[in-house]
Amino acid sequence: MSGIPEPEEFRAAARRWLTGVARPRAADGEWGSGSDSVAVFDNWTEEQEREHTARVQEWERTRYDQGWSAFNWQQEYGGQGLPAYYEQLYRAEEAAFDVPHRPEIFPVTQALVAPAIGLWGTEEQKNRRLVPLLRTDELACQLFSETEAGSDLAAVRTRAVRDGDGWVLTGHKVWTSGARVATWGVAVCRTDPDVRKHAGITVFLVRMDAPGVTVRPIRQMTGGTSFNEVYLDGVRVPDTDRLGPVGEGWRVTLSVLAAERLDSGGLGLDNADRALDLAANLPRPLTGAEHQRAADLHIRTLVQRLMGLRVTAALVAGREPGAEASVGKLYATETMRRTSDLVSELLGPSLVADTGEWGTYAWTEHLLGAPGYSIAGGTDEIQRTILAERVLGLPKEPVR
Ligand SMILES: Cc1cc2nc3c(=O)[nH]c(=O)nc-3n(C[C@H](O)[C@H](O)[C@H](O)COP(=O)(O)OP(=O)(O)OC[C@H]3O[C@@H](n4cnc5c(N)ncnc54)[C@H](O)[C@@H]3O)c2cc1C
Repeated sequence: MSGIPEPEEFRAAARRWLTGVARPRAADGEWGSGSDSVAVFDNWTEEQEREHTARVQEWERTRYDQGWSAFNWQQEYGGQGLPAYYEQLYRAEEAAFDVPHRPEIFPVTQALVAPAIGLWGTEEQKNRRLVPLLRTDELACQLFSETEAGSDLAAVRTRAVRDGDGWVLTGHKVWTSGARVATWGVAVCRTDPDVRKHAGITVFLVRMDAPGVTVRPIRQMTGGTSFNEVYLDGVRVPDTDRLGPVGEGWRVTLSVLAAERLDSGGLGLDNADRALDLAANLPRPLTGAEHQRAADLHIRTLVQRLMGLRVTAALVAGREPGAEASVGKLYATETMRRTSDLVSELLGPSLVADTGEWGTYAWTEHLLGAPGYSIAGGTDEIQRTILAERVLGLPKEPVR
């Protein structure tokens, strides 16, 4: 492609390319046949996680090598210098094809960590790190949360102490998605305990196979283990793997978190649509209350899609869609909750009995997974605080 193609022209070219490299997604079969999975989080063993990750990496490399990835990056990083929303245009086309679904570590690597390196990295870091991350030869996880520092992330206690030409990291991170398959961890660390907490933070890129890094899976209530604890025990990190200036880690972290919210608006829509199909195919008439819930959920899916378009519109206009993104994340988690409510009412006891009946017990994966998104990437309460302060201009919460 040369110059900036018109969106329609770009979408048509994407469709042509996809037709050559992937099969169209099978049209939804008869209600009651095909996969009934509505899992919110992947529920796999380490071996399954590694196998699936390798499949997605192969697909992402094909995209990158053939010029259908990294759209908004400069050419030196394999991109085409297109506006950011071309990624969404591409995704809309890709959705019609049978390509492996990307677990969280992929958007974290390509849409959160790579841009943070683009923004904060030295020339050397950009030259060495960006292409392997964008091509997903190397994956990166977020070593942010700790047991005493989740919503209040600036309270991190993992220490990084200068030692010669490097740093020694010691601490304990928790809830790290994808840590088992990551090459890098982006670690938020305390480098100065004597200054105001937001000022004493520095961010490092830590190799996950470095001596002193231990990854321990956490068992989820759905049975799988996609999350991990990560212990950092005297891990040596060269100063060349520090991301951003010493003491500026809070600003580096905020840029990653803002990108995370931007990525969350489409959450839960597939399952909401599926719950509405369930209502339409139920072998009994709906009660009045069920009608109300179904209509409410239908309206929400429309509004949520419109809000997604507003985020795109803000990007097209060259604006940071900060407020739209926070509203979108909050709205999406409520959609997920109301999907659970509708399904519980429609299925009643058959939801909790694993009888093998299609499309019943499978919904437990949604019910048990959905609450996680009200917590991940900033809880609902924190999103409301952001909206209150930054959109409504209400007085700031006192900083603890
Ligand atoms: C699915 C999932 C994936 C995750 N992946 C990662 C990852 O890859 N890397 C990573 O580092 N972390 C990850 N996390 C962790 C996540 O970022 C934290 O769980 C989240 O920030 C909340 O922190 P916390 O669990 O410590 O809860 P807390 O901060 O202890 O909050 C507990 C409760 O108090 C409320 N609360 C706290 N402060 C306030 C306030 N000021 N005003 C109002 N209410 C408040 C919260 O909303 C919440 O309801 C993940 C979490 C989940 C659920």
